[in-house]
Amino acid sequence: MRICPICNVPLEPEAYEGLQILRCPQCAGHLVDCSRYESIKRIPEKSRAELEAEAQAGFQGDNAASIRCPRCHVTMFKKPIPIPGYSLRLDLCYDCALVWLDGGELALAQLAHQASPAFQDIQEMKQRAAALDADPERKAAFDEACAKLPEAQDPFTAGLHEAIRNAFFQIATHPMRIRIR
Ligand SMILES: [Zn+2]
Ligand SMILES: [Zn+2]
Repeated sequence: MRICPICNVPLEPEAYEGLQILRCPQCAGHLVDCSRYESIKRIPEKSRAELEAEAQAGFQGDNAASIRCPRCHVTMFKKPIPIPGYSLRLDLCYDCALVWLDGGELALAQLAHQASPAFQDIQEMKQRAAALDADPERKAAFDEACAKLPEAQDPFTAGLHEAIRNAFFQIATHPMRIRIR
């Protein structure tokens, strides 16, 4: 059993976006292992509005006091996460690969991630792929162009084909409606 590093009460299991994590019933802080924390940030399950509501409901200001890892009890390392309007600092134990997030900070960390350029690029690609699927004529031209590529026999050719397919995708989903043929 893990104890809340702030309230000293037992943490309770919680299913969060399909993943099992621990939550404090008093301060609403979360203890999450690093791999699950990375997964939660990448799951686009909640909309921006939902995350903002969740952050506002739980956020009580960043806890400035240093806290101890609920597993090994060493002082956790504070890591700042840039997000406009908030002072967000995660508490990390590198040895245990655990993250402590004060109330509302898990939602804030997801908002910060969604605002990052890498996430925006992925979202744009998904939107373009969906737009291509919704246009049968363009989709057929794209599939036909990709099918013309000969089978890749070695990693170099496979990499080259991947790059060509990406170029076809860029053309097929280009807003100016450029044709592949
Ligand atoms: Zn607590
Ligand atoms: Zn630890």
